[in-house]
Amino acid sequence: MQAFSLLQPTSTGDAIAAAQAHGTKYIAGGSDLMQLMKDNVEAPDRLVDLEKLQLTGIRTDSGGLRLEAMARMSDVAAHPAVQQRWPVISAALLASASPQVRNMGTIGGNLLQRTRCSYFRDTGFACNKREPGSGCPAIKGASRMLSVLGGSDHCIATHASDLAVALMALDATLELHGAGDTRREVPIGEFYRLPGNTPNIETVLAPGEMIAAVIVQDTPAARHSHYLKVRDRTSFEFALVSAAVALETSENTVRDVRVAAGGVGTRPWRLPEVEAALHGATLNDALLREASARAGVGARPTRQNEFKLTLLRRTVLRALQTAAA
Ligand code: SF4
Repeated sequence: MQAFSLLQPTSTGDAIAAAQAHGTKYIAGGSDLMQLMKDNVEAPDRLVDLEKLQLTGIRTDSGGLRLEAMARMSDVAAHPAVQQRWPVISAALLASASPQVRNMGTIGGNLLQRTRCSYFRDTGFACNKREPGSGCPAIKGASRMLSVLGGSDHCIATHASDLAVALMALDATLELHGAGDTRREVPIGEFYRLPGNTPNIETVLAPGEMIAAVIVQDTPAARHSHYLKVRDRTSFEFALVSAAVALETSENTVRDVRVAAGGVGTRPWRLPEVEAALHGATLNDALLREASARAGVGARPTRQNEFKLTLLRRTVLRALQTAAA
């Protein structure tokens, strides 16, 4: 691991100012970044530790939920109001990583974790995301875990966050703080970039800008939300496929529905084709089966991961059936 210096600012302004310098990275819980540094995938000259910023709040009121970026994954998952009013968030967090990692991992860090593509994490291989222009061995190589939606000829890496999928189904907003005390709110659906020909640029964050908080509305659909994750082993594994569903019905008619998927896209993937089949329709099992069969429009699987399309449709169906029950 390359030697680095460590700064521990006590204000957001100082942290953002420090992060403007070239070769500087933020560190939150460190569970992903430290591993990447040990593997020489990341080699920052200095780290800006966010631990002392007091950004650990989990605040709820009648309007919604505000999760500050340094709130621990385990604290958010166990919060009674989150469990009751946004169960998809709690379920997605509890399906993430291990209890030890959840105790260290933060909300902001989870949303900014890097892909698990094995070529990206092994500097013995080329990788356009790690080294732009070097190539993508995954496209003709080991791609079982990689994306079927949103890929390009330059990268097909899957986005790894379970929480981001849940937040997509809740239409969450990210509060970003940047240089000069600037603040802006970005819908999570606009936060992650498709790889295109610049897979190294993953979000709309400006240099030194940070996620300060996640904002989620309190809606009837959010209260009837569910997260289902399918993976190779239950104890600790990233998703082969996951589905997040938020569903509001009245008089057996679908009033509001949002569906997102993980493990299949280069970013957390919303499924508007499924939602369109459900909006305003009479809820029954045949409808759920017909709607879930539409999942995956535009998919470009490889020979190794085309099974994900069938798995996606089945996972979406089960998540919808659970949310509707
Ligand atoms: Fe790198 Fe993306 Fe190709 Fe994986 S899929 S090797 S992350 S460019």
